Amino acid sequence: MTTATIERKENVLKTVCVFCGSSFGNNDSFVKAADTLGKLLAERKWGLVYGGGSTGIMGSVARACATNDGYVHGIIPEALIARERTSSTEGLNEKLKESINNHDGSTPLPDSKEYGHTTLVKDMHTRKRMMGEEADAFVALPGGYGTLEELMEVVTWFQLNIHNKPIIIYNVDGFYDGLMQFIQDAIKSEFVSAKNGEIIKIAYSAEEVLEAIEKYRIPDGRFNLKWDST
Ligand code: AMP
Repeated sequence: MTTATIERKENVLKTVCVFCGSSFGNNDSFVKAADTLGKLLAERKWGLVYGGGSTGIMGSVARACATNDGYVHGIIPEALIARERTSSTEGLNEKLKESINNHDGSTPLPDSKEYGHTTLVKDMHTRKRMMGEEADAFVALPGGYGTLEELMEVVTWFQLNIHNKPIIIYNVDGFYDGLMQFIQDAIKSEFVSAKNGEIIKIAYSAEEVLEAIEKYRIPDGRFNLKWDST
């Protein structure tokens, strides 16, 4: 078994986990936002950890960061390769087939100019655990069910005191207005406390995303639970 270790490169100042769509959506602003964020991360020497795909705006943010000399680490379950890692893998395919047949756990694959380091994992849980461990902060760009699930998991884990890393929504063209309204309604209905309503911070540009991460203050009022495994 080959186990991928998470190596923090010396020149990477912070690592941001970006959740976003495996599709492009129907608005050019989404892909532009992903591209700008990827480039800005590279420029500021902040690393990117993401789902490891080449499709949709997930691929865009990774390519923008990796091709501008940024640090990128993609973590992808083997079952999703055929669906989410469909474009140029720079000779990776043979290696992939070999790894899929032989690996047990998490397997680092050869680096790619477009997508940086890729780690192949067995399942979604391993992917999410590894992304969460490597990240210093979480950012959601527009996306679908997968994006929402990943975002809400890190929010609920924050609420439960399992981690205390900044969570930022990049609200491109009002894409997340409905979710923000849902949170306000849940506060009004007393399902979410006002304090926990502050877990997610909103940004309207890539610069604001990075600024919100740097300025993030942990809201008090989280559940005071102890987790042996964290
Ligand atoms: P989507 O927003 O649906 O395009 O999905 C974005 C990313 O979330 C893709 O990489 C999906 O593989 C991933 N995803 C989908 N469902 C889940 C899940 N239950 N847990 C974690 N990631 C998921």
